[in-house]
Amino acid sequence: MTDNPFFETWETPFGIPPFDRIRPEHFPPALDRGIAEQRAEIAAIAGAPWPPSFADTIEAIERSGHLLDRVSRVFSNLDASDTNPALEEVARVYAPKLAQHQMRIALDAGLFARIADLYTRRATLGLADDQRRLLERHHLRFVRNGALLGPAQQARMAAISERLATLHTLFGQNVLHDEREWRLALGEADLDGLPGFVRAAAAQAADERGLGGQYVVTLARSSIEPFLTFSARRDLRRAAHEAWTARGTHPGAADNTPLIREIMALRTEQARLLGYRDFAAYRLDDSMAKTDTAVEQLLLEVWEPAKAKAREERAALEAAARAEGLNEPLEPWDWRYYAEKVRQAQYDLDEAEVKPYFVLDNMVRAAFDTAGRLFGLSFAPRFDLPVYHPDVRVWEVRDRAGVHLGLFLHDNFARPGKHSGAWSSRYRDQQNLDGWVAPIVVNNNNFAKGDPTLLSFDDAETLFHEFGHGLHALLSRVRYPSQSGTAVRRDFVEFPSQIFEHWMAAPETLRQYARHYETGEPIPEALLQRLLAARNFNQGFATVEYTASALIDLELHRDPAPEAVDPNQFEREFLERYEVPREIGLRHRPAHFQHLFAGGGYAAGYYAYLWAEVLDADGFAAFAETGNVFDPGLATRLEDIYSAGDTRDPMELYRAFRGRNPEIGPLLRHRGLRQGG
Ligand SMILES: [Zn+2]
Repeated sequence: MTDNPFFETWETPFGIPPFDRIRPEHFPPALDRGIAEQRAEIAAIAGAPWPPSFADTIEAIERSGHLLDRVSRVFSNLDASDTNPALEEVARVYAPKLAQHQMRIALDAGLFARIADLYTRRATLGLADDQRRLLERHHLRFVRNGALLGPAQQARMAAISERLATLHTLFGQNVLHDEREWRLALGEADLDGLPGFVRAAAAQAADERGLGGQYVVTLARSSIEPFLTFSARRDLRRAAHEAWTARGTHPGAADNTPLIREIMALRTEQARLLGYRDFAAYRLDDSMAKTDTAVEQLLLEVWEPAKAKAREERAALEAAARAEGLNEPLEPWDWRYYAEKVRQAQYDLDEAEVKPYFVLDNMVRAAFDTAGRLFGLSFAPRFDLPVYHPDVRVWEVRDRAGVHLGLFLHDNFARPGKHSGAWSSRYRDQQNLDGWVAPIVVNNNNFAKGDPTLLSFDDAETLFHEFGHGLHALLSRVRYPSQSGTAVRRDFVEFPSQIFEHWMAAPETLRQYARHYETGEPIPEALLQRLLAARNFNQGFATVEYTASALIDLELHRDPAPEAVDPNQFEREFLERYEVPREIGLRHRPAHFQHLFAGGGYAAGYYAYLWAEVLDADGFAAFAETGNVFDPGLATRLEDIYSAGDTRDPMELYRAFRGRNPEIGPLLRHRGLRQGG
């Protein structure tokens, strides 16, 4: 194939992938060649006849796999943001092949011998701090992949990794399958309670599915949550909620239950081969938290206060339900609906009154300008660059001195073929090993498209959250690719994203950017004050559903006999043992818990959001204490965290920013779980 764009140097501006020319059939040959090239590179490094040096071993590894990196990033991003059956087929075929390739490198005895030799001599090699950390991390990565095991155990490690890659792919595809299969088509008579913006989004979703004139609710969070919040039709809320929580559980080809059992058994087996008690112990050994005890302690510190707050909330919801004539117990499909009623009554706050002030484009501008005030960045739209879908917008990012810093792709709308949720990723990472390489960053959201698109307060927070990850990649100033930007420990990676959310909710931001979509008027001060006063509202619910999910993740991954686990029974027993309020339940049930099972990244790691929240609440409190949320001195120290990538220990980085260790008080107060200043 001569016209395969992956076999050319890209002459596009800034080296953006030539999306207009990339077709699914280009991936298999490019992935094959990328794998072959890296194998040859690694063989050359491992087989060198002279004693190893840092440059010809560690730096050479960092340089290897250039083509494979380029192809697989384009592939995984497109497969997540704009997939189709052809790409899904490539994913099924290549996920195990790529896992096998990675494991072959990780278990290369010659390569490891050279790394181990350097590692034992690391104090005498005259390495800079980033180089020493890089060497230590490469060594640790090999050890954690089984480099110290015997040949039979190594073969088993490799076989497991390959199988896990397939299982992760299938798990994600099954969830997407169930989300595609289900939709609730509504006629005019079924719209009771739905405000204009929900109707408009449902009409748009219907249009996209060729059902013009109707209204469609889908299982995207941005579609179903507003429906559950506003629909006065309890029967329809129930149907929608049941479909939502049943994703991944339907018997048949798309059932995730057997996949979970196999994934957990294989993970545990790998952990035990490496000498760990279970997968949680293995995973947490290389984290900021270090142990499952530390994680459990944090989760339990919020668990009882959160349930107590949820009980208070439930009492208020039940009163509202009785006042409306509901004489049955509150069900999970009722919580959001009556919470909205209580919120309106207690705070005189109506989501439908708030939403017109949260125009997507204005909130994007707010995020950009915040990055400008804190870090001196500027964003200019580029309409001349290729994109993979017409919804995607490209921005050129420049630094304080006007120098090109990178590209930022914004893919904001829900659509068929796009995975649910919100995430940040990269097509290219910043690095400076052989000259400066600028990052190409993408943020994905799943907002319901409208004209204009209006966001909820939570949506706007999500927008800022992902943008915080984006900044972590854009501001990266490191030498080595594997230390770039977000390549930090999993329980630290949410700090740069979550602290950035605080600027969205800052009154300074809202007064300027929360403007009515029709009149352009800023949000009325009284409404703004009510909005901020209501921020702790329903935090019992939010904390319970999140923490319960984090706890079940931890429990699943430290189960002593996962091969015998029935995920559904495990879930029932878990809910009972922790007395999880039944009207709330889990934010993610195991059968569609993609953080845990559509990849290994957040397995035994869902707690990371709360772990990072200790840091972000405490970190933003530092700004609040100065009386200026844009305090330049603090902003400079915060930028040091965003730019450091994985060149330094996260706790050291945090202490350098804050001047002390993190404290949990600000988190508990921020969520309204503890009183006082
Ligand atoms: Zn995040």
